[in-house]
Amino acid sequence: MKYCVECGSEYQDSVTACADCPGVQLVDKETMRERGLPVANERDTRQFVRVGTAEDPLTAEDYVQVLEAARVPVFTRPGRAGSVDALTTGNVMPWWEILVPVEHSARAIELIAREKDNLQATEAEAIRAAEEEELESEGYTAPPPA
Ligand SMILES: [Zn+2]
Repeated sequence: MKYCVECGSEYQDSVTACADCPGVQLVDKETMRERGLPVANERDTRQFVRVGTAEDPLTAEDYVQVLEAARVPVFTRPGRAGSVDALTTGNVMPWWEILVPVEHSARAIELIAREKDNLQATEAEAIRAAEEEELESEGYTAPPPA
């Protein structure tokens, strides 16, 4: 069987294009899975729920990669800053919603939480390294780790 990458419709192998989506390529089930796309009749009944947000597109992309690696179908959409944000900061900050099918939400939330920790640890590590480098360049030796 083949599937439309756009709408997820299922087709016989002899079919080369989706009847509903002109010009859209059909791929096999494996490819759909690899790309984290829902297949045949799953999309309509699926309910996507928000499992997290990202404050920049790179972080959003990072979460998507983590979820896709875990075979969780995922997509992002830009969120809209609420009036509270606009009032408190005076800026409209962009952010991204991470959405997955409801049946994957518990796992996705866990994966995102773990990845968030990783990102923060990496950031802290980078800051620490930069500080040590700065100290060294000033002639100090960084203290040994406790
Ligand atoms: Zn289609």
